[in-house]
Amino acid sequence: MTHRIAIVGAGPSGFYAADGLLRLRPDLAIDLIDRLPTPLGLVRAGVAPDHQGTKAVARQFDRMLDKPGLCFTGNIEIGRDLAWEALRAAYDAVIVATGMTRDRALGVPGEALPGVLGSFRFVGWVNGHPDHAGPPIDLSRVRRVAVIGNGNVAIDVARLLAKTPEERAKSDISPTAEAALAAVPIEEIAILGRRGPVDASFTNNELAELGRLQRAVALVAGDGLEAEPPASDPTPERLRKSKNLELLRGFAANASGTKPVALRFLFNAGPLGFAGTDRVEAVELATGRLPVDLVVTCIGYSGEPMPQGEGVFAVGWARRGPSGTIPTNRADSHAVAASVIEWLKDRAPKSGVTPPDGLAAQRVDTAGWRRIDAAETAAGAAVDRPRVKLATWDALRSVSRA
Ligand SMILES: Cc1cc2nc3c(=O)[nH]c(=O)nc-3n(C[C@H](O)[C@H](O)[C@H](O)COP(=O)(O)OP(=O)(O)OC[C@H]3O[C@@H](n4cnc5c(N)ncnc54)[C@H](O)[C@@H]3O)c2cc1C
Repeated sequence: MTHRIAIVGAGPSGFYAADGLLRLRPDLAIDLIDRLPTPLGLVRAGVAPDHQGTKAVARQFDRMLDKPGLCFTGNIEIGRDLAWEALRAAYDAVIVATGMTRDRALGVPGEALPGVLGSFRFVGWVNGHPDHAGPPIDLSRVRRVAVIGNGNVAIDVARLLAKTPEERAKSDISPTAEAALAAVPIEEIAILGRRGPVDASFTNNELAELGRLQRAVALVAGDGLEAEPPASDPTPERLRKSKNLELLRGFAANASGTKPVALRFLFNAGPLGFAGTDRVEAVELATGRLPVDLVVTCIGYSGEPMPQGEGVFAVGWARRGPSGTIPTNRADSHAVAASVIEWLKDRAPKSGVTPPDGLAAQRVDTAGWRRIDAAETAAGAAVDRPRVKLATWDALRSVSRA
C-alpha cells in the first residue's frame, strides 16, 4: 500500500506539484482533481487564444497524464461535490492548487453597471470556459472600450479586441467570441493605468506586439515618458522598464487617424467611478469623463479562503496570490512537493475507499479528457485552427462520455 495524495486544481501548479512528487516518490498514487472536465487551468482558460506558443506547454502537461500513479479526476468540484474535510480525511496529504476564482473589484461607484466586466469573464469567454459560454454583453454597439490595468492581461484584452479576424485566424478562440468580435464596430481602445508609464508591468514583447497590429495604431497620451527606471531596481527590471519606455515613446510619435482603430495608453488615469443609466457610458477620471461603451478591468484576482489543517499544502496562485507566469509555478510547486514528501516520511498510508470512488459516475478521467481533446482538435483541423473548443458544460460532459 502506498500513500495517496489529492491535488485539487489541474492547472500548471497542480501539474508541477505532481511532477515534483513523482520525481521524489514514483510509487505515490495521485489524484489530480479539477472542477472542469478538462485539465490545464489558465493555460486553457486564461492565456490568450492568439498566443499558441505559450499554450504549447499544455502538451508537456498532457503527457504527464500518461504516468502511472497520476490520475486525472475532472468534473468534481471540491467544496461543492465533496467536502474539503472528506478529502483530508481520506488522503495522506492534500495539495490546494485552485488558483484564483474571481476578479478583484476596483471598489469605485458604478462598477456593477452592465458593460463593466472583469477580465476573468472576458478571457474566460474568448477561451471557451464553460462558466462563461454566453457573450458577456452585446458587443454590436461597442465603439469605445476602456481596458483598466497596466499588466499583460490588459494588453491581451486590448489586442484581442483590436485584431482583425485574419489576425485571430490561427487561434483557438471560441467560435461565439470570434463571431462577436468580428462584428464589433470598434474605434477606440483606451488602456488606463493608475500610475505612470515607468510603473507599468507589461513585458516588452507583449507591448511591442501592439505596435504591429493591422488595423490599430498605438498612441500614448500624457507625460512621464522621459522618466528613468529607479536605479534601485534589479537590472532585469530596469532593462524591462527602459525598453517599455522606448516602445511607448515610439507609440507617442505615431499619428492618430492612420488606421481605423486608435489604441491609446492613458497613464496617471485611475478610474474614480463609472457613469451610465442602463449600461456604462463613461469612466470618471480626475481629468474629466471618458465616454465608453464597454469597460474591462484587468486589475488582478482573488480566491477562496484556503482550507486549513494538518497535511494540507498550497501551491501556485492559491499560495502566492495572482502573480507569476506559468514557469514561475514550477520551482514553487517542486519545493512544496519536497515538503509533502518530508511530511509523509514517518506516516503509515491511510486505508479505505477514497472519496472520488463514490463519484465515479460523475468523474471525467484521462480517457474522457482525451475524447474532448480529440473532438476539439478534429473540429479545429477542419477549419485550419489548432482546435475548436467545446464551450458548454453539456458538450464537454457528453463528449467525454461518448
Ligand atoms: C488572463 C491571463 C493570461 C495569462 N497569460 C499568461 C501568459 O501568456 N504566459 C504565462 O506564463 N502566464 C500567463 N498567465 C499566468 C498563468 O496562467 C498562471 O501563472 C498559472 O495558470 C497559475 O497556475 P495555478 O495552477 O496556480 O492556477 P490555475 O491555472 O488557475 O489553475 C487552477 C485550477 O483549479 C481548478 N479549481 C479551482 N477551484 C477548484 C475546486 N474547488 N475544486 C476543483 N478544482 C478547482 C480550476 O478549474 C483550475 O483548473 C496568465 C493568467 C491570466 C489570468
